[in-house]
Amino acid sequence: MDRRYKQGTARGYEAQLPRRIEDFVGADNPVRAIDAYIDTLDLEALGFVNAGGRLRCGQPAFAPAALLKLYVAGYLDRVHSSRRLAHECRRNLEFMWLLEGLTPGYRTIATFRQFNGPALRAVCKDFMLLCQELDLLGGEEVGIDGAFFNASASDASVITKTTLEKRLKQIECDIAAYHQDLETQDADERGLPEDLSKAPELAAKIVKLQARQARHAALLKQLEDSGETQISRTDPDARALRKGGQQLVGYNVQSSVDSKHRLIAHYDVTNAGNDTQQLAPQALAVQEVLGVETMTVVVDAGYFNEAQLATCAQANITVYVPIPDYEQRLTAAGRLSGANFTYLPETNVYVCPGGQELHQYGEPHRRAGTGTLYTRYSRPPGACQDCPLKAACLPASGRRQIERSEYAPVVEDLRQRMADQGPARMRQRAGLVEHPYGTLKRWFGWDHFLVRGFEKVWGEMSLMVLGYNLTRVIHILGAQAFRDYCAQRLTGRLLPT
Ligand code: SF4
Repeated sequence: MDRRYKQGTARGYEAQLPRRIEDFVGADNPVRAIDAYIDTLDLEALGFVNAGGRLRCGQPAFAPAALLKLYVAGYLDRVHSSRRLAHECRRNLEFMWLLEGLTPGYRTIATFRQFNGPALRAVCKDFMLLCQELDLLGGEEVGIDGAFFNASASDASVITKTTLEKRLKQIECDIAAYHQDLETQDADERGLPEDLSKAPELAAKIVKLQARQARHAALLKQLEDSGETQISRTDPDARALRKGGQQLVGYNVQSSVDSKHRLIAHYDVTNAGNDTQQLAPQALAVQEVLGVETMTVVVDAGYFNEAQLATCAQANITVYVPIPDYEQRLTAAGRLSGANFTYLPETNVYVCPGGQELHQYGEPHRRAGTGTLYTRYSRPPGACQDCPLKAACLPASGRRQIERSEYAPVVEDLRQRMADQGPARMRQRAGLVEHPYGTLKRWFGWDHFLVRGFEKVWGEMSLMVLGYNLTRVIHILGAQAFRDYCAQRLTGRLLPT
């Protein structure tokens, strides 16, 4: 007998489906966990718009709790847009269960996300507190990393100060040329009245150019006032960012991941083009969130910043970060680099590979740009003439000098730590920080913001972080145990204090 493929049920068959939507949603379904958690929240206290229940006349509003549940479930289910969420409310049984059959329109859904940015941040913060209540954050080791996410703005929306200045000059020239044409036609009018027909067109062109000139001048002033060099006309807070082979208009999202269960303990949305100024702000912020005195932080080479390393050291934060080799070219050319000189703190001298001492000369000076204090060390002029290493050591000036930064002791400690544990710590970093971003981008299918401006973007990022942390907690505890805890939490909140 021929074997047949699996057969479906005839479309006209009257199925005996469960009669309650409740029966379609299993006990371990994440939407039950979302429902249980959001029911524990005091949304009015968290700052949600229209959360007090004091409704005005007209149609009753949708409860903020219902819309928040919809968003969290949607972001976990790769449904981010308000139109698609509205669509899912009419066909997705899990969403129907979650919203008890309510079907808000896409405008209502979009408006909720638009006006509740700070409140969404507050919910995300509350969930981190819940993680602490459940002892899920270790607070010992943290991986910090940044990732670029696309803004809701195109590359063409970004304009730089230089481009604006060039365009303004061009517009001035065009306006001057049109005025010249008008004057010529005025002159012609006296002799050739038929040319007058062109004058209204020229006048309209001038008005159009003047309007563009005013817009560009306003943008230029905005840039000059802010001290920035570029602006996006679609999303004023987004920036053209470039890292490695990646180039986009968007935001630089920083996340700090606790090593105990890879939960995001802190996150930040910036528009910084790189991570060099991020180490201390992120490390200190996550230290405060975790409420710990000492902590270890692992980051990639992009975070290396001597001054910020010193700030972390003062706060008892031990950092592991690869030290960039700024003298790579020198070494590759077979010349002696600063690493070949040894500093002796007892005598405040450097000893060179030729066994000679380099003494401090001149007063310490602050380097322009960074403001870091440097001290120079050198040998007296002409003292190296007999050294067999001079060809590989001396610069064209004939005097070798070493500059020592005020943060050199911190960097030397780091160098020792990296020599002892560097490779293992960098593997730990990759395991920690790449997990959340991988989950957000691949599992949740999210790689760009749908809203514009810092406040709203923060709100959307909070939804993603909440979704990630919630998924982790369900994975760690199990959906039922998490719901039981939420029930306890709700009871505690509702009990009179
Ligand atoms: S050239 Fe001068 S500084 Fe360089 S190794 Fe020789 S003695 Fe030392």
